Amino acid sequence: MDAENNLQVLLNYRELDPTLKLIVEKVKENERISFDEGVLLYEKGELPFLGILANAIRERLHGDKTYFNRNFHIEPTNLCVYDCKFCSYSRLIKQRTEGWEYTMEEMLDIVKKYDNQPVSEVHIVGGVLPQYDLDFYAELFRKIHTHRPDLHIKALTPVEYHYIFKKAKIDYATGMQLMKEAGLDSIPGGGAEIFHPEIREQIAKDKCTADEWLAIHEVWHQLGMRSNATMLYGHIEQYHHRIDHMERLRQLQDKTGGFQTFIPLKFRNQDNQLSHIPEVSVIEDLRNYAISRIYLDNFDHIKAYWAMISRSTAQLSLNFGVDDIDGTLDDTTKIYSMAGAEEQHPAMSTRELVELIRHVGRHPIERYTLYNVITDYKTYQFPEEENIRFYPLPVVN
Ligand code: SF4
Repeated sequence: MDAENNLQVLLNYRELDPTLKLIVEKVKENERISFDEGVLLYEKGELPFLGILANAIRERLHGDKTYFNRNFHIEPTNLCVYDCKFCSYSRLIKQRTEGWEYTMEEMLDIVKKYDNQPVSEVHIVGGVLPQYDLDFYAELFRKIHTHRPDLHIKALTPVEYHYIFKKAKIDYATGMQLMKEAGLDSIPGGGAEIFHPEIREQIAKDKCTADEWLAIHEVWHQLGMRSNATMLYGHIEQYHHRIDHMERLRQLQDKTGGFQTFIPLKFRNQDNQLSHIPEVSVIEDLRNYAISRIYLDNFDHIKAYWAMISRSTAQLSLNFGVDDIDGTLDDTTKIYSMAGAEEQHPAMSTRELVELIRHVGRHPIERYTLYNVITDYKTYQFPEEENIRFYPLPVVN
């Protein structure tokens, strides 16, 4: 039975709560659900119900296609002037013994390591420090772009941009134009956390506000450029804070159309100031992906970071609205592992990613950052001699 027929089955189900039935009708008719209906889904929507709705939308948009890319990260530093309560990554400046601070040359050396490899994207994000200022990043982007013009530079979040523009005494529009001219191609989704001030004040009060975060993306979209958005869930927020977060994104997306992908990020509780808060279950992760897919009707893609949630949960998520599981990574990021993710050295070969997607009956597509297709793996045969690197089963808490 196909995903659309499953919606009809739900509508025919007499026992279904009438308020939930109204939401099924809206999804069937491709209509937008309201704020209150979003909260209702969190309060009353059981996992199988949400999966049917989210999968119908996912398959309407993408069929079985599931995207990934070949990428690597550069994390310039894990020292930071801010002190976000959920952050397992940052070591405050006073704890310099545990920190790293890459020089421009060291970062360029990382890029050069991939000179003969078919990676398509470098993802640059890290802590905020005074020496990494506007001139530094503009020069870094220029040098990477000159060295390898085909490499998509996806870099920094409004947290860094707000900080460096303020320091340089320039407004967002001038700053983002300078970044674009230096070679920046897109902005990743980080730094969004939870927008609602009741929560943001408690977990990330020093860095850019929700309005500032949104304003920087808006300016970037007005330059004709694309970006992503995240939401950090599963800590002290309540369901209405998650919907408020998505509502603000949905409104900006209506205005600009510049967002590509929404990425829910699970709060992990290792080694941070919120370690006393238990992590939410895999069921809640999947419910959250599904509700994101249903609520954000104007976002093309919902992504799950396999390195953050484990390979098996990433596979499951493909039935709950997710159509993108990120990239090969090549063990170049510490953000997930330091937060307690099962993957302590995240790396997958292209073949492993393709097999991961195929094993759950989906259709793997290697994409560029902007979702144009590099290779369609639907019927692709890997050479016999290329051995699969078997990996240990992940530990699910
Ligand atoms: S989340 Fe980002 S801004 Fe906040 S402390 Fe960590 S590295 Fe710094």
